Amino acid sequence: MVPYLDLKAQYQTIKDEIQSALIGVLESCQFVLGREVGAFEKEFANYCGTQHGVAVNSGTSALHMAMLAADIGPGDEVITTPMTFVATVAAIRYTGARPVFVDCDPKYYNIDVTKIEAAISEKTKAIVPIHLYGQPADMDPVLDIAKRHNLMVIEDAAQAHGAEYKGRRAGSIGDLGCFSFYAGKNLGAYGEGGCVVTDNAERAEKIRMMRDWGQKKKFEHVLPGFNYRMDGFQGAVLRVKLRYLEQWTEARRRHAAQYTELLANSGVTVPAVSPDVRHVFHIYAICSPNRDALQAALGEHEIQSGKHYPDPVHLLPVHGDLGYKPGDFPVAEQLGREELSLPMFAELTEDQLAAVAQEVRQWRLSNPAPTS
Ligand SMILES: *Cc1c(COP(=O)(O)O)cnc(C)c1O
Repeated sequence: MVPYLDLKAQYQTIKDEIQSALIGVLESCQFVLGREVGAFEKEFANYCGTQHGVAVNSGTSALHMAMLAADIGPGDEVITTPMTFVATVAAIRYTGARPVFVDCDPKYYNIDVTKIEAAISEKTKAIVPIHLYGQPADMDPVLDIAKRHNLMVIEDAAQAHGAEYKGRRAGSIGDLGCFSFYAGKNLGAYGEGGCVVTDNAERAEKIRMMRDWGQKKKFEHVLPGFNYRMDGFQGAVLRVKLRYLEQWTEARRRHAAQYTELLANSGVTVPAVSPDVRHVFHIYAICSPNRDALQAALGEHEIQSGKHYPDPVHLLPVHGDLGYKPGDFPVAEQLGREELSLPMFAELTEDQLAAVAQEVRQWRLSNPAPTS
């Protein structure tokens, strides 16, 4: 069996350090925020190359806090793409603002920078690029458009810990960067977690207050309040795991290169990597017509795989009120139909990887792509 993700394999490699870190939290009884979370925020901001980091209880909360710190609210519009996890769009809607979608670019699947300006209106307040699958969006044109139209840039870097665009780390490029530490992310907590990073001291301070009931000091509530605090246990786990992140990321990048080599000329589309970026391969995404049949065939050989994401957000029933319809964003919709995520984690073995590639090739040979 080749699992899509193997958290147990990773745990085995860091078990002793994790256990002593957790015992440290038990001994200190700092279960909410506290020393470990405070230290982690500093270490993670440093890793991202930003002045400030504010830890929260999920990536969704990070996005919500960033939106509020950017003064986004009812009547505003926020531009993003429909090929993302629902959380990006949910966070926009929590503020009362309206998400406005633009399609993905057909090569790298991130926001199509040539389509952003046509979506800008008087009400537009921010652009939210998603660094999909771990590959940074084309940020220079995004920053340039934002500057000319006086818009905020909030990066959804939930899949892109340690990714780089022209030497700059994901999360540090726009005004605010949002990360998720959901267990399956490249840097995963043992539970839920998230962080906002920024160079703006004032916005960081606002988020620091809002995540803890908008308090300036105890019981002095000056801002809208949320209980978005990170647990002490998660801070302790994340501090241990952050020390391994570069090593794990390099392993992912090696696996990706190997998949790409083994799948050359196999008839499936392998990921294109922009020369401007360090892709961290949260997801190794291939594309193929008959994706569902391929997934079923892999399943028969006990190879797990995933889809990210089968329905672009504009077609989800929950956002029907926005008035979008099938055909509005053809690149995202095609990706939804054709994308398949192959097993990807640092501990993936050569044999596992070779077995996956072999089955994909085999299936493709016996099921040639329909010629169009
Ligand atoms: C995981 C993810 C989120 C949400 O993070 P949670 O920690 O699950 O709340 C947001 N955006 C993207 C692109 C994600 O992959």
